[in-house]
Amino acid sequence: MDGLMMAYELTIPAILRRAESLFGEREIVTRLPDRSLHRYTYADMGRRARRLASALRSLGVKPGDRVATLAWNHFQHLEAYFGVPMLGAVVHTLNLRLSGDDLAYIVGHAGDTVLLVDEGLLPVFEKFRERVSIQHVIVMSPTATDRPDLLDYETLLSSADPDAEFPEPREADAAAMCFSSGTTGKPKGVLYSHRAVVLHSMAEAMVDTLGLSQADTALPVVPMFHVNAWGMPFTCALVGAKQVLPGPYLDGDSLLELFEGEKVTFTAGVPTIWIGILAALEKTPGRWNPPAGLRMVVGGSAAPLSLIKAFDRHGLKVIHAWGMTETTPLAAVSNLRSELTGTSVDEQYAARAKQGVPVPFVEVRARGDDGLIPHDGTAMGELEVRGPWIAGAYYDAPDGQDRFTPDGWFKTGDVVTIDALGYMEIKDRSKDLIKSGGEWISSVALENALMGHPAVSEAAVIAIPDEKWQERPLAVVILKEGKQATKEELIDFLRPSFAKFWLPDDVAFTATIPRTATGKFLKTALRDTYGAGAKH
Ligand code: AMP
Repeated sequence: MDGLMMAYELTIPAILRRAESLFGEREIVTRLPDRSLHRYTYADMGRRARRLASALRSLGVKPGDRVATLAWNHFQHLEAYFGVPMLGAVVHTLNLRLSGDDLAYIVGHAGDTVLLVDEGLLPVFEKFRERVSIQHVIVMSPTATDRPDLLDYETLLSSADPDAEFPEPREADAAAMCFSSGTTGKPKGVLYSHRAVVLHSMAEAMVDTLGLSQADTALPVVPMFHVNAWGMPFTCALVGAKQVLPGPYLDGDSLLELFEGEKVTFTAGVPTIWIGILAALEKTPGRWNPPAGLRMVVGGSAAPLSLIKAFDRHGLKVIHAWGMTETTPLAAVSNLRSELTGTSVDEQYAARAKQGVPVPFVEVRARGDDGLIPHDGTAMGELEVRGPWIAGAYYDAPDGQDRFTPDGWFKTGDVVTIDALGYMEIKDRSKDLIKSGGEWISSVALENALMGHPAVSEAAVIAIPDEKWQERPLAVVILKEGKQATKEELIDFLRPSFAKFWLPDDVAFTATIPRTATGKFLKTALRDTYGAGAKH
């Protein structure tokens, strides 16, 4: 039809062009490994991202190729966020906390051709190096490194063409990639399109969402390998907010020093981080004075009510948010709706502690045993979502397709209620996973390994609530007749195969484990027996 709008692609380079032309002098501050602060501007970042794209092209990276990163939050990682998609390639962030086995699988499955790795994380790379076939390994360090076997990031950039030009990607092209362990089986890849990232950034910035603006100074504590630091680097560039990147230092004192020194107004991370911050604030009252009104997004696990209240006492505002790797990730935020302004303090806290109201363009519904549930705040069902930044399929994973319904919704695995105002509250999780300090632990993998012990007949692993980590694994074990094993022996048996934080804190020995009609362990019953406060 005549007379329509321009065909304008929603791309990551378009975000960068805006940041460079309108906010070129805004700062990006990084805490370096030696704890000093590196400062430069969006203009500098844009120039270097272009050089990176050009250097990668010279190494043979083509549009669509996957470029992996293994890195903390810092300016060079940010350059990869913009430089790799500028070339039309896909920036694939690797979770440095995963085991060598998982990383080897993920790198192989994604077909990563190039790896950008922090010098300090080379030992993590060594855990899987022999098992992957990456063509170019580029070491990121604030200064040039001398590693004859590896490429150096700064040297590459300094010899790259600063004026290289790149065709504009299409908005439907893949720009970024993350792997999710949000179900059983192997980790699954999620590809983010340019369009998804741009629209997610616009929604994230909205006042009733996170309300980010050019007046903000934002510090993502959430790692850049966790769903693109929840999209913050892109949203901040879009609105022109100053960014403060904490490098590898995520302890309470280091973060509080940055909040105060850089006058941070907005930050985001998992509950475990905020519990650490609170402890640091309360250990030496008066030592730290974080900027009044600092907004802190808490997500990845439920924000405990006590945490929200405690930060209120310090004049800091917790914003509870919900999302997933498959949802780019922001899908719901628990801001107070105006209908609740006249209600009691307790009612307001109860609403803020829920996972929240869906953000614009994220549609939700929940399915119980008898079909879709009413939005009455009581009926429970598995949450399903759809929208422009919700995954439509996993990358090359035929076994994951049962998470997508035939009518185009994604099944989250979270069991929720939804109330009349649209607030969702997570009540349970149907996926067999434990989330400890923001990182997943597969109960099935631990169970299978435990059942390989000669004295173990059956083993079920459940999440039990934990004040600091939100959840920790507990193994419930039936021993074979006439066999003996201690808790220590079983944990030692698991040790070589799993990351340390995966190891169960405790083992409970029992004579029977209840099962469902289909023969699966009845974990709800186990949680009732061994969960919060129960003795074992
Ligand atoms: P991930 O894909 O690692 O980001 O994990 C997503 C999952 O984390 C969700 O499906 C939930 O089970 C859990 N999660 C995320 N945010 C919250 C929250 N605010 N409260 C409770 N659980 C959450």
